[in-house]
Amino acid sequence: MTTRTSTPTAATTDTAAPRHPALTASDPELAGLIGAEERLQADTLRLIPSENYVSAAVLEASGSVLQNKYSEGYPGKRYYEGQQVIDRVETLAIRRAQALFGMDHANVQPYSGSPANLAAYLAFLQPGDTVLGMSLPMGGHLTHGWDVSATGRWFRGVRYGVRRDTGRIDLDEVRDLARAERPRLIFCGGTAVPRTIDFAGFAEIARETGAVLVADIAHIAGLIAGGAHPSPAGHADVVSTTTHKTLRGPRGAMLLSTAEHARAIDRAVFPGLQGGPHNQTTAAIAAALGEAATAGFCSYAHQVVANARTLAEELTARGFDLVSGGTDNHLLLIDLTDKDVSGKVAAKALDRAGIVVNYNTVPYDPRKPFDPSGIRIGTPALTSRGVPASAMSTVATWITAVVEAARAGDEAAIAKVRGEVKDLMDAHPAPGLPVS
Ligand SMILES: *Cc1c(COP(=O)(O)O)cnc(C)c1O
Repeated sequence: MTTRTSTPTAATTDTAAPRHPALTASDPELAGLIGAEERLQADTLRLIPSENYVSAAVLEASGSVLQNKYSEGYPGKRYYEGQQVIDRVETLAIRRAQALFGMDHANVQPYSGSPANLAAYLAFLQPGDTVLGMSLPMGGHLTHGWDVSATGRWFRGVRYGVRRDTGRIDLDEVRDLARAERPRLIFCGGTAVPRTIDFAGFAEIARETGAVLVADIAHIAGLIAGGAHPSPAGHADVVSTTTHKTLRGPRGAMLLSTAEHARAIDRAVFPGLQGGPHNQTTAAIAAALGEAATAGFCSYAHQVVANARTLAEELTARGFDLVSGGTDNHLLLIDLTDKDVSGKVAAKALDRAGIVVNYNTVPYDPRKPFDPSGIRIGTPALTSRGVPASAMSTVATWITAVVEAARAGDEAAIAKVRGEVKDLMDAHPAPGLPVS
């Protein structure tokens, strides 16, 4: 846990009934740990772009008795009896996913983003077949064919990157690779891509070379749902997404597709890869999709982007070098090469200041992946707390002060920021958490 110097929250001092009464009674040690995590999430400025705060409604659905059911199969085609209600829950989630993302078919059963992507391989490839994806250190995901992943060990991974001069994907490079390597599957999307994904451009390349295009929108699903990023519908054959990042749902995933690929996708998820679906997660996905279809969520998605853009400007004004020069979405990648401090040292100092980020490689990183040159930050979680764009100059000032303090070994400066972060967080309570 980070060093705490400021006043304790109400959660540590008040006499109100515990939030988890049954667990507190039966297992106070574990209840205490969950309470500590609640306080950590309440008190810190969480800038990890893949994290968020779910609503109390999503928490309730994911903690429900749907947990108790086995439901192998799909609605109306189960291997277990007693599915009268579960079928309706899963159908609700499917319908909402189809409507929100404008795709013919939706499978809401993948346990998480990585197994969802593995199901896409199972649906279309044989072992040894070629997959074209974005290189991990350039911003792609492990499951897009990287060596250490099963997807790179069982399939032949070929990778595109970003241009050294622009920090952006070069579709001419992607097209040349696709023509030369003839992949059966092409992935677009990534984990550290601060710019808009050109789904139409990727689709043209996939069509020309006879590949299936998978748009992995794990990071940007909420922005797409809210109209703050172009949609892959009408371009990608398959859309893979987690549900727990900008979409603000439970930890889970979905695979969406055109009608043509519906059967292949469903058979790959079950019985190809998984057993019983996590019904409590399905219910929470339905709840999150319901929330994501509202006008309020649309404003949220646009505010995420506005906050990221403002933060990018404020950091640039303070002399930070951003990969690609800025952002179009929720995510910024800071290159610390000229700051004389590594990404890991900076990330750990920021954590001590109550600002939670992750260290990350930058394209063409001269340092090693376990101590790279960058930090990755994003605005989805702070925007869920209602932190406005006007606060981004303060956030940028804190980051500047802490990175400088990390270089100089000035723990007092870090502690000072920690107190100020706590005050901002107290002014913007997070959804689903106890109010301090
Ligand atoms: C997060 C992410 C995944 C994997 O999701 P997990 O739920 O962590 O397995 C896959 N692809 C992309 C692009 C991601 O950002």
